[in-house]
Amino acid sequence: MASMLVYRGDYGQVALEEYPRPDVSAGEVRVALDTALVCSSDLHTIFHRRTAPTPLVLGHETVSLIDRIGTDGPTTDMQGIPLRIGDRVVWAVVASCGTCGTCSRGWPQKCPGATKYGHARLSSQEKWTGGFADYQVLKPGTSILRVPEHVPSRIAATIGCSTATVCAVLEAAGDIRDKVILINGAGQLGMQAAIMAKSCGAKQVICLEAQPQRRTDAKRMGFVTIAPESMALMLTDATAGEALDVFLELAGNVTDFPLLMKHMAVGSTIVFAGAVYPSPALPLDMEAVIRKCITIKGIHNYRPEHLVRALAFASAHCDELLEFLNFGSLSPLREHAAVIQAGESGAFHRVGFTAH
Ligand SMILES: [Zn+2]
Ligand SMILES: [Zn+2]
Repeated sequence: MASMLVYRGDYGQVALEEYPRPDVSAGEVRVALDTALVCSSDLHTIFHRRTAPTPLVLGHETVSLIDRIGTDGPTTDMQGIPLRIGDRVVWAVVASCGTCGTCSRGWPQKCPGATKYGHARLSSQEKWTGGFADYQVLKPGTSILRVPEHVPSRIAATIGCSTATVCAVLEAAGDIRDKVILINGAGQLGMQAAIMAKSCGAKQVICLEAQPQRRTDAKRMGFVTIAPESMALMLTDATAGEALDVFLELAGNVTDFPLLMKHMAVGSTIVFAGAVYPSPALPLDMEAVIRKCITIKGIHNYRPEHLVRALAFASAHCDELLEFLNFGSLSPLREHAAVIQAGESGAFHRVGFTAH
């Protein structure tokens, strides 16, 4: 038998349930849990800030060990590296068909026939798609990457969600060399975006963050931080009077959008990626968007190439990320109540589950 944590729609709760270990069909790969982190979006679902189909096994920031490869399953990963039993792997959160109109237009993460790991309703046919489980079964067409040995599992686990999403967000922001970047939210997404922006040659990276501890953490790593309520007083000083070239919204809400628009530069870019749940509408000054030729983009999930970039980034910056990201305890699945509570407390960038 094998265990999984099932969310049945009860506020703040998941339950440990046992099922026979999954079989592997042709083209599939069965993986055994190494580390599964609790993403903020998992908490949004468990604590009813957004709705999801139930019953559901959550968890999509996962690194696992290949346990079995089905007949005609993949022999190599996306980069041509051979895949063997016992390899530590990460994979794209969405397995898409690759042939429909949405996939062909370059949005495989929005494929209508896609399987989204950690988001699919638990059914008699589809049991092992969530990360909070002893095993997962990866569908044919899943983009899989082998993780180099030097990358710690807790950093590797971030690759399939937050790190790859940040790669897509920064791509949407365009060339950020010598640019002034304002990042809303110094959670895991914001911190990774800050490190990535700095490593890409941004002139100045400023983090807007409400939580004092997160501001302290960001400051310790050399970023300028501002509390949202102090933006009117501090933003001009923080940028030395320069306008903002890029605004990355990664928190899901903006305290004073009209003020922010006044600080945007001509030709600047705004990327929204944080509000993955119903969020307050923003007052948008259309004239400012037009006169300043501002580009506004939305980014949700990512394409397979962003997963490759995310692995390269995590591999090159794992020491910095380990120092930066504040992990709570990683515990066995049976300790789910304490883990979920610790995640919801907001004291950590991530908490999570390990095999033992
Ligand atoms: Zn996530
Ligand atoms: Zn498709």
